[in-house]
This record gives sequence, structure tokens and C-alpha cells, in this order.
Amino acid sequence: MAPQLTNAQAKAMLTKLGFDNANKKFTVAVNGFQRGWNLGPALKVDSKFGPKTSDALRISYARFKAHKSDMSAHFSYREFRCKDGAVFESCRRIWILRSHVRRLEKYRASIGGKSIRIVSGCRCKQYNKKVGGVSSSQHLFGAATDIDGRLTLDQKENLGLFAGMGFKQSTGKVIHVDSRDRGGHNPKGSTPTKPAEWKYAT
Ligand SMILES: [Zn+2]
Repeated sequence: MAPQLTNAQAKAMLTKLGFDNANKKFTVAVNGFQRGWNLGPALKVDSKFGPKTSDALRISYARFKAHKSDMSAHFSYREFRCKDGAVFESCRRIWILRSHVRRLEKYRASIGGKSIRIVSGCRCKQYNKKVGGVSSSQHLFGAATDIDGRLTLDQKENLGLFAGMGFKQSTGKVIHVDSRDRGGHNPKGSTPTKPAEWKYAT
């Protein structure tokens, strides 16, 4: 085991990975890092920078330096960052759920390992409001992603991966997938076998 990184080293690395809040709000950034990390066994999400999180950060940073994905086998933290342009003080920046990212990895594998474009991932309350998202949006919980539309609702249902799916009426392709069963607002108890589904008129 390599010696634990100093907080200053960790802040610099987290900043490079996309946590531009790491200097000002270290524990928030550590929490976001722990929440999504999927390059090994799940980290305890306790916002504390201990030896396990330090080792995980070394792995992510080494991959980042080598131009490889730094959060999971094929995804990087910055792809899921709130797109508010860092204007909102309370924004946590990146707080995507590991279980959702694992489903995205499975989805990616199911389409022959083709890359998936993340159009929108985490959204803080203020940014969600700005883009006209619903107040209980799964994006607020780090449990949702808007993606480029490739599969129809039937095809996505067959994968049995996501608990919420929205498709574009004009193309029939699914452009929003979420894991509301893993940490989002889920009043109807939706699951991947009984997903919430809706269409976007545009
Ligand atoms: Zn934000």
C-alpha cells in the first residue's frame, strides 16, 4: 500500500478529475468521489479521506494521466458533472451513484461496447430549475443520465437495467435512463423489471 496522500495532494488530484470544488469543499468532493468510484470494491461513502480512498484516488489519477477513464472501466467523473458552469455555490459538482454507473457499463456492453455520450448527469437544484427539470428529477440525486438515443423503449426494457426511462416521441429512442430504485425519489416503487416510462414531446 502506498503512503496515504496528503490532503493537498488529494485536492490537486480531485481538481484534475473534475471536482473543481475540492479546494474549497474537500469533504464534499471526497464524498462525490467515493459515491461513484467503480474501479474496485465499493468505497465507504463517509466523506473522510482515509487510506482506502487515498489508494482509490491514486488509481483514478494514474488512469487520468494515461488518458483512460477514471471512475469506472469506461466512464470518467467529469462526464457526469453538473453543467451549471460552477456558478452555484452549493452545487456538489459530481455525485453520481456507483450503482447507476454500473448499469451504464452493462448497457454499454450490451451494445457491443460502443461509447455512450452522457448529455447530462448530475444537476443541482438551481441548475435543474434553470433547465426546466421537474422538482423531483432523478438528476438531483445523481441517479440519472440523459444519453444519446440508440435503443427503443422495448429494447431498453429487455435489458432490465433501469428503473426509469424517457423516450423521444419523434424517434422512439430512449434519451433518459435512471436508477430511482437506488437512491432517487421513487414513490411508485419502480424497478428495472417494472420501470417508470414516459415520452418527451420534442
Ligand atoms: Zn450545479
